[in-house]
Amino acid sequence: MRIAVASGKGGTGKTTVAVALSMAVSEKVLYADCDVEEPNGSIFLRPEISRTEKVLVEVPEIDEEKCISCGKCAKFCQFNALVSLGTPPLVFPELCHSCGGCAIVCPTDSISWKKVSIGEITVGSADSGRVSVIQGKLNVGSSLAPPVIRQVKSHIADDILTVIDCPPGTACPVIESLDGADYVLLVTEPTPFGLHDLILAVDTVRVLGMPFSVVINRFDEGDDGVENYCKNEKIHIMAKIPHRRSMAEVYSRGGILFDAIPEMLDLFKSIPQMIERGIEVE
Ligand code: SF4
Ligand code: SF4
Repeated sequence: MRIAVASGKGGTGKTTVAVALSMAVSEKVLYADCDVEEPNGSIFLRPEISRTEKVLVEVPEIDEEKCISCGKCAKFCQFNALVSLGTPPLVFPELCHSCGGCAIVCPTDSISWKKVSIGEITVGSADSGRVSVIQGKLNVGSSLAPPVIRQVKSHIADDILTVIDCPPGTACPVIESLDGADYVLLVTEPTPFGLHDLILAVDTVRVLGMPFSVVINRFDEGDDGVENYCKNEKIHIMAKIPHRRSMAEVYSRGGILFDAIPEMLDLFKSIPQMIERGIEVE
């Protein structure tokens, strides 16, 4: 089973929940960090790294001998990765989405491909080998999160419980991360901003037709807008995590949720079983 942990915005405690879920269950689990712009699950899981691999994509290379500086490739590129000012185009690899279109429109066959690295995957294990940890990290300056996420997910096997730590928001990287998941936990906080972004996230998973429920972090700190919304929309609330003053101190030294709130452990342990039993949108 693949459980994706997502949130409409950053800072809601998404990684806290994903890490806690991975550490709570007793079976083998794979934690896949797809929050590739800011992967930080490893800070808490502290995996022993066994190997790293680069994420390579193909970007255009211009043959200036053959190029007639027509500018058709630059005009075609929707991502401004090519700029031609009556000259052979300049290539900005970090903006290229490797769609291949520029080579198709080039009348002189002047475009070939070279591989560039846009990020890195690290593979390791934590908790005496029980938790496999795959982390993707996008290079600074690159905007191409989806290929890094795809490479993280290529390591997921079907026969192991997998927790996918998604990027925040509802854009392409999130959709890429959610693809193939069996269930989504949407982490939010009980504030007007939290509710606003939760509504967007709920719209997204509903369009994708995915079963989901909500985890409210710091539920005792805000208002009851999120709970009322879930009640009205018949959305199951899987967990309500209270706020504890000790949390900041626990997290700052790399501790996890149960170090601050041990009584949450049993609930998190039972989440996969609850999902298997069919708790979803009611
Ligand atoms: S491959 Fe696509 S995104 Fe990259 S430069 Fe060519 S047209 Fe632009
Ligand atoms: S389309 Fe081809 S020939 Fe025209 S500017 Fe681009 S690379 Fe040069």
